[in-house]
Amino acid sequence: MEAKIIDGKDLSNRLREDIKSRVEKLKQNGIIPGLAVILVGNDPASAVYVRNKERACNGVGIYSRVIKLDENTSQEALLEYIYRLNVDETIHGILVQLPLPPQIDPNAVINAIDPAKDVDGFHPVNMGRLVIGEECFEPCTPKGIIRLIQETGQPIAGKHAVVIGRSNIVGKPVALMLLRHNATVTLCHSKTANLREIARQADILVVAVGRPNLVDSSFIKQGAIVIDVGINRVDDKLVGDVNFQDACHVAGWITPVPGGVGPMTITMLLENTVLAAERKWVG
Ligand code: NDP
Repeated sequence: MEAKIIDGKDLSNRLREDIKSRVEKLKQNGIIPGLAVILVGNDPASAVYVRNKERACNGVGIYSRVIKLDENTSQEALLEYIYRLNVDETIHGILVQLPLPPQIDPNAVINAIDPAKDVDGFHPVNMGRLVIGEECFEPCTPKGIIRLIQETGQPIAGKHAVVIGRSNIVGKPVALMLLRHNATVTLCHSKTANLREIARQADILVVAVGRPNLVDSSFIKQGAIVIDVGINRVDDKLVGDVNFQDACHVAGWITPVPGGVGPMTITMLLENTVLAAERKWVG
């Protein structure tokens, strides 16, 4: 039996229709949701990501302001921009595109963002709230992963979820979110012993490592839900961390790369921006 594909692009398009109508409702009440994106330096990949975010905002009616700063911008100057955006009534979400040049400490930058405008969900206040199960901004990629899993129609509660990768932006928060949905969670990393055996116990397997073909069918339990977060460039093509063709023979559901987690990440950013504006509106 071949795995069913979880189509992140299709789900994304459907969710964006819903976001559009929420934006419309806000506008009828005199609020235009606004997202500020700060880009420091000339990293070409970052420039593409920022352009995609701007385009996505335009597509759903969110006001987007892109602030491009010179490669040599000092940390103080960047923080000054953030402080100004924190008190700017037209801006509901603030995002600083990572990575930053070496003279700037990314933690200092994330800490400077008002947690109520931290639509990336990276601020320690939002992370802390995620840990203790309070209302917060959930980071975009993990939030998108949960939606993709829910798209299968399978319950998360009671399932064994194995996450490979423990970064602060994907692995750790997605493990916490799966726990919040009452999965039994195992979090693996580069020092995990018997990775294959542990992965093979997973009803839900999330792979967020950044190594092409790390996971093949021998890591996958028959019928499992497999979410491939990895984005790797191999021979000028984008591939995930999972050997897709091979995994399809064993998995029950699987996300493709591209077209799986990627489109969901930006959609969740749009959703968090609308949420920030709605929270401000309700007060
Ligand atoms: P990081 O490099 O920050 O983290 C990678 C994690 O993988 C680490 O926890 C590391 O372990 C673990 N790891 C490395 N090698 C192995 C191994 N052989 N076995 C088990 N675990 C291993 O990556 P990110 O979390 O930022 O990103 C992961 C991937 O997801 C990348 O390909 C990235 O491009 C992609 N990504 C995709 C997004 C999307 O929107 N689709 C968004 C964000 C990321 P340790 O902690 O021990 O070093």
